[in-house]
Amino acid sequence: MMSFDTLGLSEKVIAAVAAAGYTEPTPIQAQAIPVVLENRDVVGIAQTGTGKTASFVLPMMTKLEQGRARARMPRTLILEPTRELAAQVEENFNKYSLNQRLTVALLIGGVSFDDQNKKLDRGVDVLIATPGRLLDHFERGRLLLTGVEILVIDEADRMLDMGFIPDIERICKMIPPSRQTLMFSATMPNEIERLANTFLRDPARISVAKASSTATTVTQRLIASGSEAHDKRDVLRGLIRGAVDLKNAIIFCNRKRDVQIVYKSLEKHGFSVGALHGDMDQRARMLMLDGFRGDKIKILVASDVAARGLDIPDVSHVFNFDVPIHSEDYVHRIGRTGRAGRTGTAVTIVTSADSKYLGAIEKLINQSIEWMGEPVSASTGSGHRDGFQRGAKGNKSRHPGGNPEPRRADPAAPSRVTNEERREPRGEKPAQRDSQTRPAPQPKQDRPPQRERPAYGDRQPSHDRGSASPRHDRHEPDVIGLGDHVPAFLLRPTRPIRSAS
Ligand code: ADP
Ligand code: MG
Repeated sequence: MMSFDTLGLSEKVIAAVAAAGYTEPTPIQAQAIPVVLENRDVVGIAQTGTGKTASFVLPMMTKLEQGRARARMPRTLILEPTRELAAQVEENFNKYSLNQRLTVALLIGGVSFDDQNKKLDRGVDVLIATPGRLLDHFERGRLLLTGVEILVIDEADRMLDMGFIPDIERICKMIPPSRQTLMFSATMPNEIERLANTFLRDPARISVAKASSTATTVTQRLIASGSEAHDKRDVLRGLIRGAVDLKNAIIFCNRKRDVQIVYKSLEKHGFSVGALHGDMDQRARMLMLDGFRGDKIKILVASDVAARGLDIPDVSHVFNFDVPIHSEDYVHRIGRTGRAGRTGTAVTIVTSADSKYLGAIEKLINQSIEWMGEPVSASTGSGHRDGFQRGAKGNKSRHPGGNPEPRRADPAAPSRVTNEERREPRGEKPAQRDSQTRPAPQPKQDRPPQRERPAYGDRQPSHDRGSASPRHDRHEPDVIGLGDHVPAFLLRPTRPIRSAS
């Protein structure tokens, strides 16, 4: 049996791991930890739920035993795409560093600057941050990144997705080139990997499972539904009631608005249910999550952004109320179940309108998913959306009868961008900078409530990108994942942020 003793970790860290109850490193931990300890840059790719966090936290703790933090100069920096993930990584540090005197600061939006400033002033070993809030602190002169020895970009595929790129580029420029850079991700599309390489120096690429693969312990099924929302809710209730061994479930919707509607509907029907989406404040989200983890809530209705990467152990069922538009989201969604070798079930509700996204998903996971009952067909839809069906009769309009299919016709259709941190109200910002370089603060209630993700069209221009690229035109059509179209930003020449030495 593989053990933690042989990986090069310090005695204190080995003891902490034992105290946490881990007897054996996971494959990504076994492979990544020794390489991180050798000071090499690492790209670590492993399925969701395989222990990537400890793959960087444990060797970082070992390295941090030498040296001391100075005021406002963190020694290491971990970037996370969402507040919840950042908080979760902080919990990991607290769990493992019981017998070490490491100081950890969490810089996330939605929390007051004061406490964060006090911690920074005392000096921190580990800074865990979302990019937006980190830059806010930096611009206020509260923070220097010139002492950062290790940079971790967690959830790297999403972090390097278009919404965060300018922020990541800026942050990387503020950190000395001599740093060690670690990236971890469940998926790593080629285009993203090429971009990732501009932030890395001769990285060791550690991949323990085929990128974008789904856990084999998850039973995946499809179920056909009529196109109307109430049809889908009917099907959903049938699935929940008919599920064998349902312990708890996460239901994913593509839009925030639907998260709210499905949540209300299930509550009305007497289910023990909660909701999680990007418009909820931090406290409400944490309360929901705690309720779900503590088994007080059996069913959690969630959006992709809110649920991404969250460590919710032992979910027995995942239901996709909508087929995810971006096939990689499918992998992340069903990765909520079947974690740590347990078995799980994932059922996706499919209407004639969204069957077109199935092909991309099946291609990505390299398998076809079995139907429960009859596959979706023209007769399953409620008629008026037939024009959108794959292989629909050629003479039908794509937007028939004044009832355009929202996903295709609406220029604000959900895009790949899952970057909620950027969209926070920025009311705490110095006014001067807002007027010069950033769009005006946008209070949450002013945002259209129905969208979880900003579309290319309605996304606020990045504050530091300078001239907006042409793809931010208002009428940019919906782009499905990286699909067959590589976004322009990825084709933009990228400047290596440091010279290879
Ligand atoms: P990932 O980042 O790959 O999605 P996490 O780091 O969140 O996964 O870990 C998933 C779960 O596995 C967590 O609950 C964590 O405590 C647990 N875990 C991590 N490493 C081990 C290990 N070596 N043995 C047992 N459980 C582990
Ligand atoms: Mg993770």
